Amino acid sequence: MKALCRPSIPWQLAGLLAVGVSICALLIASYVYNARQQLGADYTALVGDIVRAQQTTPQFQIALEGFIDQPEAIHLRQINHITWLSRQYLAHVEHGLAQHPQLLRRADYLQNDMQALPEQLNALEQSAQRAVNTPSQLPTLQRLATDLEANMAWVYFELNDVVHTAAGQQRLIMQRLSTAVSFLVAMVMLIAAVLLIAVFRLQRQRDTLKALMLTDELTGLYNRRHLIGTAQDQLTNAQRQQQPLSFLLIDLDYFKRVNDTFGHPIGDEVLRVFSARMKQLKRPADTLARIGGEEFCLLMPNTHLEDAEQVAERIRKEIADLNLQHIAELPQQTVSIGISCAHDGKLSFEQIYSLADQALYQAKALGRDRVESMVPEESVPHSVALNKALAN
Ligand code: GH3
Ligand code: MG
Ligand code: MG
Repeated sequence: MKALCRPSIPWQLAGLLAVGVSICALLIASYVYNARQQLGADYTALVGDIVRAQQTTPQFQIALEGFIDQPEAIHLRQINHITWLSRQYLAHVEHGLAQHPQLLRRADYLQNDMQALPEQLNALEQSAQRAVNTPSQLPTLQRLATDLEANMAWVYFELNDVVHTAAGQQRLIMQRLSTAVSFLVAMVMLIAAVLLIAVFRLQRQRDTLKALMLTDELTGLYNRRHLIGTAQDQLTNAQRQQQPLSFLLIDLDYFKRVNDTFGHPIGDEVLRVFSARMKQLKRPADTLARIGGEEFCLLMPNTHLEDAEQVAERIRKEIADLNLQHIAELPQQTVSIGISCAHDGKLSFEQIYSLADQALYQAKALGRDRVESMVPEESVPHSVALNKALAN
């Protein structure tokens, strides 16, 4: 009974876990939603463009040094080529940034410096052009080149940093997501385990309840409810197989006196000892049940009336010989037994029971400690004088 009353903890735990998993799933969903831009971003091409753009700075220096040494058309072409390259790389970098709005936001502080780069490149080209014919322009050209190099170095270094920071955050998000997914999987497995335990417990509780419903608490024998179910099944079988089914009603004689003289607990103990002995005496296929206070019955499939009478007689004798002295100074206990038999199962359980009850009444009336049987054809007592015969 204790097991039945115990609150079903696994269900509560499963509920809690389910709430946990739902919250976790919601958190992950919102996290993924927010991180989607980061997760989908591919910075590889952009990083390549930034590195290539960075590499134009030393090329500028070399071309400029050559031009200052010899301000001629050939070096001017070199400078123009590098400014052209720089514009190309700048365009690629701007295009790459435009594809990653999150980077654009981060690189917002570089906007003015980046916008200044094309103007600086134009100014440098024009200054170099002028310097070919006017060498006095060379210091201006040098100053413009220094400004341009410094600005390019600053812009691309910072952009590199911005992209690396974003890539680092992308990795962090991936790590957190994989942790969250692992956690979710663990939670789901835990819920599955808890549910399994809950189902197992419920099954056990159901079995216990079923056993309690079909068992007599005092003696551990089957009760009347179980007997009725089993009897219906066995009657159907007997009818199908054209086999006899015998039924014994066993009642302790003058049992009230035991209670009155020795008290109810002693009476209970007698009932327990009696039941244990009956369990030993019955055949495996027989169903033994306690159907009333000191009333028991034995359902015997595939058993003819004569065999049932022999079994009943043996029970009567064994009970009369039962040693009860370890319980109290009890007088010898005897039983009266009424038997009925459905020869081919063609009787209802009520009819079989009623016939056995009539036979039992007869046994009581004829002095107790005896076996009587009643079959439908005769509907008259079938006295069993076996005890007498055996005694003789
Ligand atoms: P008879 O020979 O006519 O059967 O007489 P009896 O005294 O056995 O029958 P009666 O029907 O007068 O009394 C049955 C008694 O069984 C009455 C009651 O005290 C006792 N009894 C019924 N159930 C229990 C039980 O669970 N425990 C105990 N100790 N006694 C019980
Ligand atoms: Mg009795
Ligand atoms: Mg009785």
